Amino acid sequence: MEDSRKSHKPHCLVLSFPVQGHINPMLQFSKRLIHKGAGVTFVTTRFMSKTLHGLSSNPSIPLESISDGFDDGGIKAASSPEAYLERFWKIGPETLSELVERLISSGRPPSCIVYNSFLPWALDVAQKYGLVGAVFFTMSCAVSSVFYHCQKGLLEVPVRKQVLLPGMPPLEPQDMPSYVSDPESYPAYLGMLVGQFSNLDKVDWVLCNAVYELEQELVDWFMKVMPFRTIGPTVPSSYLDNRLQQDREYGLSIFQPEHDTTMKWLSTKPKGSVVYVSFGSVAELKIDQMQELAMGLKRSNRYFLWVVRSSEEDKLPQDYAKETAQKGLIVTWCPQLEVLAHEALGLFLTHCGWNSTLEALTLGVPMMAIPQWTDQPTNAKHIMDVWKMGLRPPVDERGVVRSEDIENCIREIMEGERGKEMRENAGKWRKITKEAVSEGGSSDRNIEEFVASLIDKL
Ligand code: UDP
Repeated sequence: MEDSRKSHKPHCLVLSFPVQGHINPMLQFSKRLIHKGAGVTFVTTRFMSKTLHGLSSNPSIPLESISDGFDDGGIKAASSPEAYLERFWKIGPETLSELVERLISSGRPPSCIVYNSFLPWALDVAQKYGLVGAVFFTMSCAVSSVFYHCQKGLLEVPVRKQVLLPGMPPLEPQDMPSYVSDPESYPAYLGMLVGQFSNLDKVDWVLCNAVYELEQELVDWFMKVMPFRTIGPTVPSSYLDNRLQQDREYGLSIFQPEHDTTMKWLSTKPKGSVVYVSFGSVAELKIDQMQELAMGLKRSNRYFLWVVRSSEEDKLPQDYAKETAQKGLIVTWCPQLEVLAHEALGLFLTHCGWNSTLEALTLGVPMMAIPQWTDQPTNAKHIMDVWKMGLRPPVDERGVVRSEDIENCIREIMEGERGKEMRENAGKWRKITKEAVSEGGSSDRNIEEFVASLIDKL
């Protein structure tokens, strides 16, 4: 009896918050769990699961959904972020419990819930059914540490002066996550982010999409205060070992990438010549910023590939795409990993979302940092001053980066001495991040340890 039970695989429910920047890393982590011998069911909200593209290319991972109370429109259907979170917090646990019960009665009982740190109530559901509870942080260790210190009452919000936290460089207010430097603008979100740490005294594992070698001192500190393990970068392995393009894996995407147009255009451009511009899946630029950016790219006279989501297109100067067609390509969404891995890339002008930052570090592309909100300013600080992989141009009194600074920054990175140093560092970080997830690397060992502990409990 004992032996036959041991032969079963542990079954992890991997529960993601319904945004692109959380689905990608949790899906890739799921693949690593499978590779190490676990079974996985991926779970997100009903609305999100209807919206995702790419399900057919991920047949190995069954997808299930729970309700956030807005099955037909997601967060956009709620009257405010507060209303959304309140409803989700009520309905989420009920529908997650229903899912667990359904899986138990259908003979596929879960042994563990790996839940997104934004959804701390999932730990109560795990414990109600005697399952292992593992929280998954999708932000950097530095950003997580800021919210940890807020939750413990060790960091006064709003932050108005320089802050010194263990294992981190001194952070000025402009380097802090926007929720703590400007909490009035985001009251609901600050509560949610601080709440990530509210019940961690009861959790079995704390998994973070970060790399030990990138934030070593801080990870050592975290490991002393909680069962903390780094498991990143969650970049698909096919991008780490230079596999042929046709073997490359894709994630699940809210937006449909303009794959062929993008890759065909890139393939005609010389090595290291293209500026790739993207602000991720959520950020909305001020119209002034969009116009300055458009002008800066034009003035730089470089090739550029610019992702402008449909909802942002109106902010472009009139006829801009037509006027710049000799030099630029504007798409509504692209296969970003494939773009960053392309030899034509010279620079990534980024909002510094954590996934984009890790992807650029892993694929060795220097960055120009124009953070907008949430964790992006803290990532920008690390890109420039810790990993020395990019520059962050100044903002003016409108909070906007001017076109001349964009132009200068492009030149400095692509032609200047500092750019040379960044490219050298890029080679170093690419090697280090790749090794972390390769057989025997720091993250690989942590994932193996996690799965082995689940197997032991069967
Ligand atoms: N992404 C993409 N195509 C695009 C722009 C972004 O595939 O045109 C992906 C990108 O590779 C990353 C994710 O979307 O994995 C964005 O996550 P990030 O944390 O960088 O930013 P967020 O969207 O959460 O602000």
